[in-house]
Amino acid sequence: MKSKDQKKWYFGEFGGRFVPETLYSCLDELEKNYFRYYKNEKFLKLLNSFLTSYVGRPTPLYFAKELSSYCGFKIYLKREDLCHTGAHKINNAIGQVLLAKFMGKKRIIAETGAGQHGVATATACAVLGIKCEIYMGEEDVKRQALNVYRMNLLGANVLSVSSGSKTLKDAINECLRDWVSNVKDTFYVIGSVVGPFPYPLIVRNFQSVIGEETKRQILKYEKRLPDYLIACVGGGSNAIGLFHPFFYNKNVKMIGVEAAGKGINTNMHAATLAKGKVGILHGMKTYVLTDDNGQVTPTHSISAGLDYPAVGPEHSYYKSINRAEYVFADDETAILGFELLSKLEGIIPALEPAHAIGWLIKNKKKFHPKDIVVLSLSGRGDKDVEIVKNIL
Ligand SMILES: *Cc1c(COP(=O)(O)O)cnc(C)c1O
Repeated sequence: MKSKDQKKWYFGEFGGRFVPETLYSCLDELEKNYFRYYKNEKFLKLLNSFLTSYVGRPTPLYFAKELSSYCGFKIYLKREDLCHTGAHKINNAIGQVLLAKFMGKKRIIAETGAGQHGVATATACAVLGIKCEIYMGEEDVKRQALNVYRMNLLGANVLSVSSGSKTLKDAINECLRDWVSNVKDTFYVIGSVVGPFPYPLIVRNFQSVIGEETKRQILKYEKRLPDYLIACVGGGSNAIGLFHPFFYNKNVKMIGVEAAGKGINTNMHAATLAKGKVGILHGMKTYVLTDDNGQVTPTHSISAGLDYPAVGPEHSYYKSINRAEYVFADDETAILGFELLSKLEGIIPALEPAHAIGWLIKNKKKFHPKDIVVLSLSGRGDKDVEIVKNIL
């Protein structure tokens, strides 16, 4: 593996391609074709037309007047909750499925835990007319019956995985096995900025539309760049999508908010960058939540989308060079954000960005009255209303 290791696969020391030899040709083919098409005029024209007329882009950058006066400084919300399907995941799903079509693939596979990435992928496959199979652990199929039904409605076939712990980890293994054996006609869609190179790069670039639009919008409204960008971090795709286009704007500070679950001193959280160690998981070198024996530990968060024991390698890099700061918010803080944004702005947020909102509210004293903050409202909260109702 060492001899093939290439610098371009890394973000600083993070990322890479830590996979069995058999996967190299799949990843090489993907890399070659991604760079063949990503600036191709026909590809971009089609992608942009789907983003505009189907996903609903550009999404608004909304000045949250009530939340701003509550906190004492200006807060703008980047409204990814208004994307078709209700979250940012569709930006990436449409991009990858379109790339698959340009590559002449006839079949899409993906894995999903809670089902959100599965639904986004099934949606993209429906509208682009390509066969879709989603791997899901047997336990998750039971727990997420409604999302399984959604995927079926969208024409996807959900494959229940009954090996191992019957959850996401096992679904990923099955999916990789499928990809290796069927790579000629099959494309594997990954849902966040994770996995072996080139996935973290591809997903980041498809999600960077969030930050690119934000930049144009805030310059129009405020005639200057924001002081802070804030986003929740699961795998890290909505956050890096917002952050990346501002990487070289050194005065723009970035804050990623991880899920602290029941608290970072319990073993029920998903605060990878706060409590994890550098290790290897899902084909990448990055921060991973492990126990003293190096075993990946189970995670907990009130929000399924943040419940992941690793993080995209580019975030590990941003942390290592202090380009972004990573903080955490527990379940209770997320519920605070969920309730307060609903009441103040009439926007029910998904529990994932509710972590960022709750963190901001609890830390409002740290900001200056002249500060301008842009917060990524990565998804809408309809899916979470029942969860919160049952807790309270
Ligand atoms: C999946 C999801 C997330 C977490 O994924 P990232 O890759 O970290 O963005 C955050 N918010 C919503 C609404 C999601 O559906």
